[in-house]
Amino acid sequence: MNLFAQLPSVDRLLSDPAVTALIDIHGRVVVTQLVRTVLAGTRESVRSGTPLPDTASLIARIGADATALATPRLRPVYNLTGTVLHTNLGRAPLPEEAVAALITAARNPCALEYDIESGGRGDRDDIVNDLLCELTGAEAATVVNNNAAAVFLLLNTLAQRKEVIVSRGELIEIGGAFRVPDIMKRAGAKLVEVGTTNRTHLKDFSEALTPRTAMLMKIHASNYAIQGFIHAVPENELAALAHERGLPFVVDLGSGTLTDLERWGLPHEPTPRENIAAGADLVTFSGDKLLGGPQAGLLVGRKELIAKIKKNPLKRALRVGKLTLAALEAVLRLYRDPDRLHERLTALHQLTRPEAQIRAAAERLLPPVQLALAALPVNVEIVALRSQIGSGSLPVDRLPSAGIAIRPQGRKSGVLHRIEAALRGLPRPVIGRIDEGALLLDLRCLAAHEEAEFAANLAGFACS
Ligand SMILES: *Cc1c(COP(=O)(O)O)cnc(C)c1O
Repeated sequence: MNLFAQLPSVDRLLSDPAVTALIDIHGRVVVTQLVRTVLAGTRESVRSGTPLPDTASLIARIGADATALATPRLRPVYNLTGTVLHTNLGRAPLPEEAVAALITAARNPCALEYDIESGGRGDRDDIVNDLLCELTGAEAATVVNNNAAAVFLLLNTLAQRKEVIVSRGELIEIGGAFRVPDIMKRAGAKLVEVGTTNRTHLKDFSEALTPRTAMLMKIHASNYAIQGFIHAVPENELAALAHERGLPFVVDLGSGTLTDLERWGLPHEPTPRENIAAGADLVTFSGDKLLGGPQAGLLVGRKELIAKIKKNPLKRALRVGKLTLAALEAVLRLYRDPDRLHERLTALHQLTRPEAQIRAAAERLLPPVQLALAALPVNVEIVALRSQIGSGSLPVDRLPSAGIAIRPQGRKSGVLHRIEAALRGLPRPVIGRIDEGALLLDLRCLAAHEEAEFAANLAGFACS
């Protein structure tokens, strides 16, 4: 107990110049709380036999805790995983045009639901309605928080207490608890599965039609692919069957690019324009997958159906804010100039980056990475890699890429996990992937203008 008397009091610590400097940065409330917590923790460890720390080391601990507390949780990282649209890392990075629009909208009052010409009330969907119609061939559009919300709202509006016919091969689960059957149930719709996992025919759909059928639905398989003895009903045939009965044919497209990816040597991915041309009455897709914009769910299609959806009170609960609309509008505008899209749309730029360019980046960054890891029993070298698009787009296709491989010397694979953790511990965490006994840093998503900062960040590398 005598020992505790030697610990400085809360007041003495708070009046120490080093601590008042912390108060200037972090505020009195936070620092006082940390002083109390550190003193309590110290008493606890002294009680269990740890020697009494000196005042300087107590203050150092308070400073470190204050810094940790002030570090934002939503931190930028380097995505060197090789997955471009990485859901856990925030999917599509926004282009500068969208960032600028977002900042302006954040800082200022803006005409979100205000018609500047008449001075009357406006509709927030009008901000992107015309652009979406122009880019998809649809009659009308509306925007909600994400594509899961779009699908939910569509089903809840048009199929509550009714039946929705879907092919068995399309009853997918997307990571993070989006499962088609569960969404249907929550939306109040009854799922009617038809066909088999690998083959579904038009007669499977026509035989399942009842007076309670609300719609025929097609869901993009997104994150899986089946091959071999397969058959799916072409969209135009499904649309024709639905329309014969006066029912809508709807498509959940998932990723939904608005441009022809083949133009840039990427595999074909269906577009909302193609669905609508084939007769789809409604199409839903994400804003932050291949489209390359902010998180959002876009619904496009026939005017009267979109109007019904917008009247659902749940639309109010699922709507997007001005920041999303500002970024989305800016991104959609880029699509008006397809010739320069791959230079301006960050996600597309990353997806279309030539392998040789990525390899050149790997050559420039090999020396700083080697230097950071010099003391460790590993070999560091440039390797050919294959990136993936991510977010359930084109799950089978891989993009030729390049990067840096870190391999343990001998059989000490534990060192890779320590390095991987140390890279995550950098001021700006570096996220790679461990694959086939190597820690791989795929450089596709590191822009040339970020390389100097990336190398400087490595200077903080410390691996025990
Ligand atoms: C990704 C995806 C969704 C969910 O979209 P979010 O924007 O992540 O909510 C729904 N359906 C399909 C087919 C998808 O690929």
